[in-house]
Amino acid sequence: MKIPHLLHTSLRTRFAIGGGTMLLLLVVLAASAFFSLQATIGAFEEAAEEGIRELSPLMSIQKLILRVWVSANDYLTHGNPKERERFVRLIQEADMAFEETSGVPFALTEEQALVRSAQKEWQRGRTIIEAILAVPQPVGDPVVATQMERFEAHLEQSLNILDQIYNLAYKEIEEELALAYAIKRKLLLIIATVFGVGVGATIIAAVAMIRSILLPLYLLEEAASRFGEGDLSHRVVLATRDELGQLAETLNAMAEKLEKSQAALEDLSIRDALTGLYNRREFQRRLKEEVERTRRHGGSFSLLMLDADHFKTINDTYGHQVGDEVLRVMATLICREVRPVDQVARYGGEEFAIILPETSASGALVLAERIRNVIANQAITVSQGQVLNLTVSIGVAAFPEDARSEEELIDAADQALYAAKHAGRNRACQFNKF
Ligand code: GH3
Ligand code: MG
Ligand code: MG
Repeated sequence: MKIPHLLHTSLRTRFAIGGGTMLLLLVVLAASAFFSLQATIGAFEEAAEEGIRELSPLMSIQKLILRVWVSANDYLTHGNPKERERFVRLIQEADMAFEETSGVPFALTEEQALVRSAQKEWQRGRTIIEAILAVPQPVGDPVVATQMERFEAHLEQSLNILDQIYNLAYKEIEEELALAYAIKRKLLLIIATVFGVGVGATIIAAVAMIRSILLPLYLLEEAASRFGEGDLSHRVVLATRDELGQLAETLNAMAEKLEKSQAALEDLSIRDALTGLYNRREFQRRLKEEVERTRRHGGSFSLLMLDADHFKTINDTYGHQVGDEVLRVMATLICREVRPVDQVARYGGEEFAIILPETSASGALVLAERIRNVIANQAITVSQGQVLNLTVSIGVAAFPEDARSEEELIDAADQALYAAKHAGRNRACQFNKF
């Protein structure tokens, strides 16, 4: 079965895609809410403009009334018949303009009533002016002058009423717009809050994901690669107790077991199985190291080569098993006498080698004598109950006094051991001093 392409991408990328999609959705939502809000506010504004347009017939009426007023004054001042004709036409236009307002759908009934009362005032004024027009010589007539005053009062009243309608309409539009802007502000706040909360929640979710999944995964990945490189001492430290935490614990336990078995294997490879001392290979490695170290830092160190006397006889008398036991006792006795820095190894069958760092040949001879003495004076009780005694012969040589290399040093200690054997056993001999 073919694995879908997405599953090949890293978890980090997949989380990033998920988080990005959520944020994008939020942005799209906020943007669409914002634009629909703008559209609603636009509709409000249009309605307001419409309201203002509705008032324009009233403005033309006011203009006409003012013109009638001016014309009436002109006629009465000059008595020009031409002025009279123009005046009659203006009166008709004003009448018609008032008639047309009956088709305008005013938002308030109050407005409608005011238009009608303005019309009534106009009509009253018109009746008066028509009466004035019927007078053949109005200029200078005191009765006409009084009527003219009444006429002007009605026109002024009509204009005032029309002003009232404006004020009402403007007030209403202003209130509606103020309401619309208040709604806009509220909605904008809601959109911003929802968007902010959404973005915040997305960020919190992303951080939680990173902390609880991606970071532990990164630590597990790092640990796996370090284990792979052989660094078994590394441990994954996760605070979580979830599946990843359990995986980390399992991984740690696995590494610990591997580390222990690796250490055990390493120990096995450098130690002698019977005595637990270093084996011959490890002894040679450590001897080389000590030679190099002494060459670098100066000073000297010594080597003891120890061989059990007539060991063959023990084997022959008590059996190989007892021989093995005696070898183990010898190892214990030797280890008890040396310093922690000294390195004891089983060199071969019943032969032991001891490296004594920073120890002169004379100092080494003192230790050799002590070991020889301890073993010789130790009655060894074996598991079968027999008690036996054992002696050892020891050869002592020092570096760099007796040799220029580790091979030469072993050879020198061997020669000293041979000399000890030759001299009658149960003794320690120093190279070149026999
Ligand atoms: P000497 O060194 O005093 O000359 O006499 P020896 O009897 O010790 O002589 P040699 O070194 O030739 O013999 C060593 C004997 O040690 C031979 C062998 O049976 C015994 N041997 C070597 N390795 C072991 C071992 O691992 N266990 C036991 N039980 N005996 C061993
Ligand atoms: Mg031997
Ligand atoms: Mg021997």
